Amino acid sequence: MEKTRELETVSQAKNAFLASMSHELRTPLNAVIGFSELMLDGVPGEISDEQRQCLSDILSSGQHLLNLVNDVLDLSKVEAGRMELKLENLNMADVINDVVQTVEPILGKNRLKIEVSIAEGPPQVYADKTRLRQIFLNLLSNAIKFAPPGSKLGIETGREGDWYQVSVVDNGIGIKKEDQERIFEAFCQVETLPDRKKKGTGLGLLIARQFVETMGGRIWVESEYGKGSKFTFTLPLAISDIYPEEGNRR
Ligand code: ADP
Repeated sequence: MEKTRELETVSQAKNAFLASMSHELRTPLNAVIGFSELMLDGVPGEISDEQRQCLSDILSSGQHLLNLVNDVLDLSKVEAGRMELKLENLNMADVINDVVQTVEPILGKNRLKIEVSIAEGPPQVYADKTRLRQIFLNLLSNAIKFAPPGSKLGIETGREGDWYQVSVVDNGIGIKKEDQERIFEAFCQVETLPDRKKKGTGLGLLIARQFVETMGGRIWVESEYGKGSKFTFTLPLAISDIYPEEGNRR
């Protein structure tokens, strides 16, 4: 019992440390990113091609580090039980349209199309909008990263019993059976992409899983190596869909 309490205290201290560290790291990182962007735009003066190359490297490393810091901050909040959820009835069509608009420029760059099948209508899920957006962005950025240029991605949605189910589908490189559970662990990256710029943090799926589970759902992957992947998550139905006569009582 004594040991359990001790471990809890250590874990709390670790999470508090990670949270404040991540927070403190963001300010200088934003300066690194902001000033390299400024210099790349030529604001302080002309730069040579060689300097441009160096600055681009500083910028992409700074952005990578910022993503990592943000991910660690999110995870430490979940682990410390300090992630506050703002649960509300949400319309999936609105959330998806918004997310698709956000990723549109990267889709275009990779000549990718996205097919969304979703029914318009009353709210379908009871969830936190910001976290739901983050789940989509994490799954979509992977799909974009691993899909062949010129291919088509899909977002499929539907009701499954008492749950609302959403899938993000790609026909990219796929994931071997033995890796399909492992990829949800921290820093697990099974495929190395030749393009260094595409390298992620290895925390995206863990965060998606933590967010989905905190909101009461489940997330899993079905994939055939070499053929493509389908990541599916469930969320509780909007309250009016389960108990239509009770409206928005929750
Ligand atoms: P990151 O994408 O930042 O590396 P994630 O936690 O999001 O981290 O993903 C972990 C690993 O799972 C990836 O590095 C990749 O090996 C594998 N993976 C995730 N999504 C896909 C996908 N759609 N297709 C193929 N492999 C994937």
